[in-house]
Amino acid sequence: LRNKFVAGNWKMHLSVAEGVALVTELRALLDGVAGVRVAVAPAFTAIHPVADALRGSLVEIGGQNVHWEKQGAFTGEVSPEMLVEAGATCAIVGHSERRQLFGETDEGVRKRARAALDAGLTPIVCVGETLAERDAGRTLEVVGAQVRAGLEGFDANDLAKLAIAYEPVWAIGTGRTATSAQAQEVHAAIRAILRELVGDAADCVPIQYGGSVKPENAAELMAQPDVDGALVGGASLSAASFAAIVRAA
Ligand code: 13P
Repeated sequence: LRNKFVAGNWKMHLSVAEGVALVTELRALLDGVAGVRVAVAPAFTAIHPVADALRGSLVEIGGQNVHWEKQGAFTGEVSPEMLVEAGATCAIVGHSERRQLFGETDEGVRKRARAALDAGLTPIVCVGETLAERDAGRTLEVVGAQVRAGLEGFDANDLAKLAIAYEPVWAIGTGRTATSAQAQEVHAAIRAILRELVGDAADCVPIQYGGSVKPENAAELMAQPDVDGALVGGASLSAASFAAIVRAA
């Protein structure tokens, strides 16, 4: 039906040397692992050297963001084609830090995801509610709206090449994880929207959970029927803990 997909979002951490050292250790730790898709998303400056260090391994490389144009006067942005050239196979789009700190909108998220798909990258489309939204009982409404707007116009073929990450904002970097039941409830709601949009093809879309995933909670989260992997921040900055999360998938 669908393989598990575990990705590490390094955010603005790790130098080139540190990133290369981490993945050199990681590929050794993951020797023999199969049947799970694994990626790390370094800073843009480290993508090429980290991709070189991963050549021939199971671990793929992703961008932490991607622009929708191929090239042009867009200071500070990186195009899908540039990511592909540097060795990336996927790209995170619409992370809550991009939405909250850098003003990204659902429309921009959709354009970034569309362009990533067109360049052959797997977009990891991030959605998630804030604590205030959860406390107001608006979680499914907010997440549902982000999914519908972010994927507007996408067909079954597109969704077969895309992943979604549910990251409750209140669980990111806080040490406070959603319970497996809370995660499953939202993942199932996302799956139901996907089924509305593209029918049975919804069953092929990996939906990752993100927010304080650690080796200690990874297995239980990923055992939920609609939790198809993880998008890992802090715990992906150690090869040992990231490898343990991959092995829990
Ligand atoms: P943490 O795992 O550090 O909570 O970060 C989650 C995240 O934002 C991954 O994209």
